[in-house]
Amino acid sequence: MKNIIIVLVLFSFIFLPSRGAAQDENQTVIQSIFDNALSTDIAYKQLEKLCKEAPGRLIGTPNSFKSVGLMKEYLTNLGADTVFLQSFTSPAWICHSAFLTMTIDGKEIPLQVDALGPCGSTPLPGIHAEIIEVMSLDEVRELGKEKIEGKIVFFNRPMNTTYFNVFKAYSEAVDQRYWGPSLAQEYGAVGSITRSANPNMDDFPHTGSCRMEGNKIPAIAISTNDAEKLSKVLKSNPQLKVNIQVDAEDITTQSYNLIADLKGSEKPNEYIIVAGHLDAWHNTEGAHDDGVGCLQSTEVLRLFKQLGLNNKRSIRVILYMDEELYQSGGNAYVVYSKEQQVMNYFAIESDAGGFSPRFFSVDAPDIVLEKIKKYESFLKPYGIEEITAGGSGVDIGPMKELGVPLSGYRTDWQRYFDMHHSANDTFDQVNFREMQLGSGAMASFVYLIDKYDLANQN
Ligand SMILES: [Zn+2]
Repeated sequence: MKNIIIVLVLFSFIFLPSRGAAQDENQTVIQSIFDNALSTDIAYKQLEKLCKEAPGRLIGTPNSFKSVGLMKEYLTNLGADTVFLQSFTSPAWICHSAFLTMTIDGKEIPLQVDALGPCGSTPLPGIHAEIIEVMSLDEVRELGKEKIEGKIVFFNRPMNTTYFNVFKAYSEAVDQRYWGPSLAQEYGAVGSITRSANPNMDDFPHTGSCRMEGNKIPAIAISTNDAEKLSKVLKSNPQLKVNIQVDAEDITTQSYNLIADLKGSEKPNEYIIVAGHLDAWHNTEGAHDDGVGCLQSTEVLRLFKQLGLNNKRSIRVILYMDEELYQSGGNAYVVYSKEQQVMNYFAIESDAGGFSPRFFSVDAPDIVLEKIKKYESFLKPYGIEEITAGGSGVDIGPMKELGVPLSGYRTDWQRYFDMHHSANDTFDQVNFREMQLGSGAMASFVYLIDKYDLANQN
């Protein structure tokens, strides 16, 4: 008996790595991931190229196609096993220009504005009308058609800047941008102006999506400084007339998600998705939103390949098109997955800006979250404070109907809405170290998920 025990103990020493050894191995691999990420600037340089050569990458625009080409070449050069375009047809909205001027004492004063997508256009000279300022959607309903008809509704509720969670402040403010224009139209308004969802006072208009269909009115966002200015003028001159002018068009286009795979060694037909979205609003380089997410996703593939991390499953980078307007890329990938019977094992999206890592949120059955949480200590030294239940990303979200466990990479996003959807979202606002800590965190997370089968739902 004693001999059997000695043999078993010896056997376990020789053939089974102890828990300590596995821990050491994980720590060593994760450190090598971060060492490489923090000392390699190829992705950062590519982000600069994407931002400078293809800004304003809304679906259907020339720069959206250019961005797909730029990133396809980049992923091919990284040594991905397969790089291909997944095509789909989608509505698109092309913005040419937006202006708002007020005339005071015979002097025309331009205000800092930008069009909300996909709003309607005005006739060439614009629309000349009075303004009615409101603080909420309910106020429009209370005022009714009688007071709204023929006017431009000005939604001027500021973001609540007292919250720690700036995303919460954004989501509370953004109803007036998303639903405001169509509600104003319902009550007979000829246009709408929405205060930018920006926690700061500055001159940048922040655009974004609004829900509009059919015969659409022009809808614009105004900078916070000019929202205050306009409000002040209206108090002394309620009959003030402004001129609003928007030139935009609705089209139907063929577009593409860009997909690159690094083949898995054991289960090549199972895919771990790492994703960001390539499209960006017409007024911006789209550096934080979401050039960074695209490059962090490509970094996961590069790190696995360069460090020889031997992924069991295939790692699939998806750079989605059209997160901002119609989410057509995210939906098209689900259709494609059904048609091709793609086994998407797990998906993670980075779309919270290129700031320091804070946490991963997981949208999956409890059993998956519990398994993943057991490994969060490996990521803590690198700024991931926790792995917690929560949402994932707009592009990968539709995969929920396929039962795929989803995750979102979350950052220290206090500055995110300083730049979000504005001309202020430029490459120089992205810090190399912060971006690459995110790349390292995502690659390490994927490494653990793949190695320990953490997305298995049994
Ligand atoms: Zn985004």
